[in-house]
Amino acid sequence: MLSVQQSEPAWMNRMHDNRNMRPEIRKDPLSNRWIIISKVRSMRPNAWITTRHKSADLICPFCPGNESETPPEVYAIRKPDTKPNKPGWSIRVISNKYPALIIEGEINPISNRLYEKMGGVGAHEVLIETSHHDLDLTSMSRKHVANIFWVIRERFLDLSRDKRFQFIIAFKNHGKLAGASIDHPHFQIIAIPLIPKQVEEELDGARQYYLKNSHCIFCDIIDQELMISSRLVTQTRHFIAIEPYAARSPYETWIVPRSHQCRFQEISYELTSDLADIVKITLHAMNQSIGKPAFNLVLHTSPLIKPDYPEYHWHLEIIPKLMNFAGFEIGTGYHINPIPPEEAAAKLREAVHQHSF
Ligand SMILES: [Zn+2]
Ligand SMILES: [Zn+2]
Ligand SMILES: [Zn+2]
Repeated sequence: MLSVQQSEPAWMNRMHDNRNMRPEIRKDPLSNRWIIISKVRSMRPNAWITTRHKSADLICPFCPGNESETPPEVYAIRKPDTKPNKPGWSIRVISNKYPALIIEGEINPISNRLYEKMGGVGAHEVLIETSHHDLDLTSMSRKHVANIFWVIRERFLDLSRDKRFQFIIAFKNHGKLAGASIDHPHFQIIAIPLIPKQVEEELDGARQYYLKNSHCIFCDIIDQELMISSRLVTQTRHFIAIEPYAARSPYETWIVPRSHQCRFQEISYELTSDLADIVKITLHAMNQSIGKPAFNLVLHTSPLIKPDYPEYHWHLEIIPKLMNFAGFEIGTGYHINPIPPEEAAAKLREAVHQHSF
């Protein structure tokens, strides 16, 4: 058993509904926003924002030797002659024990007058980045980080064969403030039967720009940022890291491949090592400039549906958790960013130059 003290708010304790209710995806009829209702998520460690003190994890389910604490692995890089679900791995992918969506079942859209919903079908996997509890992307070797991206690619290729899914995202919550419930470094991969609204906005923007200019907007952003260089953080042979022109929060950073590529899963192994380099340099620079922030990292890539989006361009977004979104952001969707991206870029550039990696 996972030896973590569950700490639910009192209002949750009073509820006796069936926690095994299947997840559902419901559409808000006013905004057309889809919401995932998933009761099993309430069971995970640190699921609740609460002021009650929680006991520390007694054992880490992601450390070697504790493989039986997790669902069985779906993929692993392991030493020859070692058995699945036993020590000997260096990167391990498992199903999430507390999935937002579940892999079995059908989507079955149902509408009832105003309301629409579908089965909460999806894949929710955890990629345990390393067998070492205390490493992070900055302290792992470049080759190891490249292998992590290579394994993400493998999982994307496998999940994209499932015709129920329209979109796959990989993301990482680093630090409690960014929502990580387990300290051991891990990514999550979620495949869903929908295209998220936020991604749809980017896809629409890229398509509209392409129709008007016959160019990829990301490729043009890269050209412009290299030309003016005030928001450029660093560049490698195949990638650039920039502070976006309209950064939502301080030190929001995008890492974009310099050659046009719409799907992450088309990445070559050579590119994954260059990607590992720029991710390590960027996170190192953030650690230097803003003191090891908690952060969210997301990988945005073209959806799986046909016809596809050749004018889209995959990228990583890193958002350090330096501020809480409050009433104005929730009420309007406008973010107020107190640090101009040009200032953040200058700070990060300085940190990149001061350190050789
Ligand atoms: Zn651990
Ligand atoms: Zn492009
Ligand atoms: Zn994006």
